[in-house]
Amino acid sequence: MASTLYIVATPIGNLEDITYRAVRILQQVDLIAAEDTRHTLQLLRALDIQKPLLSLHEHNEQSRVEEIYRRLQEGQDIALVSDAGTPCISDPGAKLIQALREKKCTITPIPGPSAVITALSATGFTQGGFSFLGFLPVKGKERKQLLMNIAQRSQTIVLYESPHKLIKTLQDLCDACQNPRIVVARELTKIYEEFLVDDIKNLILHFEKIPPKGEFVLIMPPDEKKEEQVTSTQEIIAFLESCKAQGIRHKQAAEQCALQMGISKKKAYEIGLDVFHR
Ligand code: SAM
Repeated sequence: MASTLYIVATPIGNLEDITYRAVRILQQVDLIAAEDTRHTLQLLRALDIQKPLLSLHEHNEQSRVEEIYRRLQEGQDIALVSDAGTPCISDPGAKLIQALREKKCTITPIPGPSAVITALSATGFTQGGFSFLGFLPVKGKERKQLLMNIAQRSQTIVLYESPHKLIKTLQDLCDACQNPRIVVARELTKIYEEFLVDDIKNLILHFEKIPPKGEFVLIMPPDEKKEEQVTSTQEIIAFLESCKAQGIRHKQAAEQCALQMGISKKKAYEIGLDVFHR
């Protein structure tokens, strides 16, 4: 059988959050490639597993490709793990996997925890999909552009953030999105796990009083006000279309629409341009 690179998810806090299959694979492989070997050693000790380790982090990932490829060719099975959660999710591994897929290696995921899914699963904001953006760029045009995109969101947005950048990111989100509701999920699966749900301004005040500690996932549901706007535009169009079907003229329909739907005649007339003159 061809040797395999296993992508193994490990706990994001609580050591019990590891699958039977992940433990079996870590027991069976010849080598474990780890983001931080000291960190992974602690997990392996807890699982009573002894294996050779090879470091694979963002600064040496490219140069490890050939070595891992050679070992796979020699018949070794290898597990890739990161410090916590699923490798490649805001963690190293993607370059290695792309390169090994090009070389037609067998790569098998061993699913398990990831902070993004763990946080989302307990917020109730999963209808209509979500966009996971990982960490926002620290500054510059790219950050500004992403903040603008977030302000226009029609889906739930999920972000990772570190404790020392949390307040700045909450402030930027508050400015870009005009004090939206947000869920701050902290220390998931750990002793001090908490979910704070509030307007962002209140959470900024909270973290100014109690400085952020631990690990954070930020979840912003879609902007309900924007959704209402979209619905009401659709309702206006539907109203004007039914007027047109009854033979009512554009100007008169706009007047009726304004009266009935509590909007200005000008707005109803403008939306009606499309309905009556297409
Ligand atoms: N690969 C990991 C995954 O699958 O979630 C993510 C690694 S990324 C370098 C680390 C970030 O994930 C943290 O800064 C935090 O935003 C988030 N994170 C990881 N563990 C967490 C936890 N227990 N509670 C809250 N957020 C967590």
